[in-house]
Amino acid sequence: ETLADLDSRLVECRACPRLVAWREQVAREKRAAFRDEVYWGRPVPGFGPADAALLIVGLAPAAHGGNRTGRMFTGDRSGDFLYAAMYEAGLASQPTATHPGDGLELYGTRVTSPVHCAPPANKPTIIERDTCRHWLEEELGLLSPTVRAVLVLGGFGWQALLPVLSGAGWEIPVPRPKFGHGAHVTLAPGRADRRPLHLFGCYHVSQQNTFTGRLTPSMLTTVLTDAARTAGL
Ligand code: SF4
Repeated sequence: ETLADLDSRLVECRACPRLVAWREQVAREKRAAFRDEVYWGRPVPGFGPADAALLIVGLAPAAHGGNRTGRMFTGDRSGDFLYAAMYEAGLASQPTATHPGDGLELYGTRVTSPVHCAPPANKPTIIERDTCRHWLEEELGLLSPTVRAVLVLGGFGWQALLPVLSGAGWEIPVPRPKFGHGAHVTLAPGRADRRPLHLFGCYHVSQQNTFTGRLTPSMLTTVLTDAARTAGL
């Protein structure tokens, strides 16, 4: 199976009743405000090349960002902040992301999340997180020949990602590594067909962090550049 096959199965997923209801309700209610475009309202697949060396992981798509446009971190302020820094770090062809036809290309980097549907208040339940886990495990399996580093945005994403990485064939040290901005842990392979994986932590690009200056553009660019260099980009 290719990543494209995985993505086309993923966008049909309806495994979480609460999230299916929410993503479709938002799409119905907001469609009028965005009349010129199709409001996605479905699972949002990862975005970026199938031979990525760096994987950037959030938590879940935003209701009016990815859930609206169908592309990760596209169409909201969090995405504007992320892609501007990726452009600065040489990982994106342009600093803006408005809609899937905007010409944005990512270089050696893919952006994804452990939960693929927008949750109410940006908070998936534990069950939803566990139900969605296999999609990212499969994505990591398909990326495993090339992926060398994973950059996680935020503590919730970090907590959600550790079991995914374990399920996808890497060893999680005990005690579990703690999230922090600038955290860097190397995970040993747990299977013969895996190679060591560098895990980086970074504050999330939500407005709570970016408006308050907790996360500045240069802080994000620094971590991105570090992760990219470690991944060989
Ligand atoms: Fe399916 Fe994941 Fe969406 Fe749940 S969150 S419906 S498992 S894609």
